[in-house]
Amino acid sequence: MKKPEVLIVGAGIAGPALAYWLARNGYRPTVVEHARQLRSGGSAIVVKGPAMPVAERMGILPQLRELATRNRSLTLLDPAGKRVLRLPNSSVGAPTVEVTRADLSEVLHRSARGDAEFVFDDTVTALGQDEGGVDVTFRRSAPRRFDLVVGTDGMHSTIRRLVFGPERQFVSDLGLYGATVPLEPDAIDDPSELTMLTVPNRMLVVHPSRTTPLAIFTFRAAQPAPHDRKNIALHKQIVADTYADVRWRAPELVAAYLDHPAPFFDPLTTVRMLSWSRGRVVLLGDAAAATALLGDGSSIAMAGAYALAEELAAHHDDHARAFATYESRLRREVRPRQRRVDLLARVLVPSTRPGLVVRNTVGRAVGRTNRITSRETVNRKPRVAAGTQDG
Ligand SMILES: Cc1cc2nc3c(=O)[nH]c(=O)nc-3n(C[C@H](O)[C@H](O)[C@H](O)COP(=O)(O)OP(=O)(O)OC[C@H]3O[C@@H](n4cnc5c(N)ncnc54)[C@H](O)[C@@H]3O)c2cc1C
Repeated sequence: MKKPEVLIVGAGIAGPALAYWLARNGYRPTVVEHARQLRSGGSAIVVKGPAMPVAERMGILPQLRELATRNRSLTLLDPAGKRVLRLPNSSVGAPTVEVTRADLSEVLHRSARGDAEFVFDDTVTALGQDEGGVDVTFRRSAPRRFDLVVGTDGMHSTIRRLVFGPERQFVSDLGLYGATVPLEPDAIDDPSELTMLTVPNRMLVVHPSRTTPLAIFTFRAAQPAPHDRKNIALHKQIVADTYADVRWRAPELVAAYLDHPAPFFDPLTTVRMLSWSRGRVVLLGDAAAATALLGDGSSIAMAGAYALAEELAAHHDDHARAFATYESRLRREVRPRQRRVDLLARVLVPSTRPGLVVRNTVGRAVGRTNRITSRETVNRKPRVAAGTQDG
């Protein structure tokens, strides 16, 4: 019997994970990715919760553990850069593993590429569906007909736009922006320590990551930034203006951001849709239900890939039923996270000094057993890493 052909659009986390599981469930997956290679950007993420059994069944946990970051603790600083407290990294000793997003994507791709066709430097320009399949046209490849199409093309999904409508219908901003830039390895003193400084409306993190430390700016802009994802000069201006009066290492880290040819910048948003499928097209991962800020996107994407492949295997002749059961399974994971995220945005980056005190007091209570009494100022010079960060 001819295996049903599935087009997966986007080779981030959800795409390769789905390709792996579909190939094992009697489907022929093709993955198209618009970048020339797997994208390397992104900070560390924690593979946890529903993604752990998926990683275990894929046999990738040993590889992930080998690639794990050495981050063991989180140090909170006051606005002058003095240590307030140190908390243990909650993933240490827990059934989770922290890796960089790029490493996770690479491991998933390596697992899937033997059984799936991967096409880089191409994308979908149009699709039209009827009862029997989906006709897809590509920017570079010849048009093809598929049995099903899955949009795993992230927060700013093209498949979502082509099939469901413009992004603004589904995306809501949390009022925060995220900007990151990679640093040279010697920009940090201690590769096991994540350092976080918060002043009202602005947070600045130096994450040790694995090989390339990262500066992470999370902030409320005085004016909402126009949604122009390609305007790097504007992004740099916003970061420079927003952190102009912040102390500690802010001047050097902002300089690193300004020096980089393509630093990452995006509003932190959630994607909320009434339905994740239309006919033979379905969405998975951030394209369907992103929840920026929680850092759970990769785990939800892996769990979703497994659930979608499992439901398609269980309902081989009824994709509509498979899509519906996949969606109701995943919504159980997504719903509580999306409820939490607005509150978290306010708590994590308070807009007032009293809010900051409350946040630190809660943090102190959580980490009481690991409290640090020293109040030394942490100061080291960052240097921007060579190469580009593709966001
Ligand atoms: C470069 C990058 C950096 C990130 N950094 C972080 C981070 O630091 N912290 C965090 O929590 N989350 C980060 N994320 C988001 C995180 O990866 C997702 O929340 C999570 O992994 C869900 O995975 P996904 O596969 O749904 O989406 P993503 O991981 O975003 O992958 C989507 C993929 O689709 C590709 N794509 C987009 N449009 C098209 C198109 N039209 N045609 C073909 N391919 C397309 C993209 O290039 C990308 O490879 C980042 C995502 C990216 C792409």
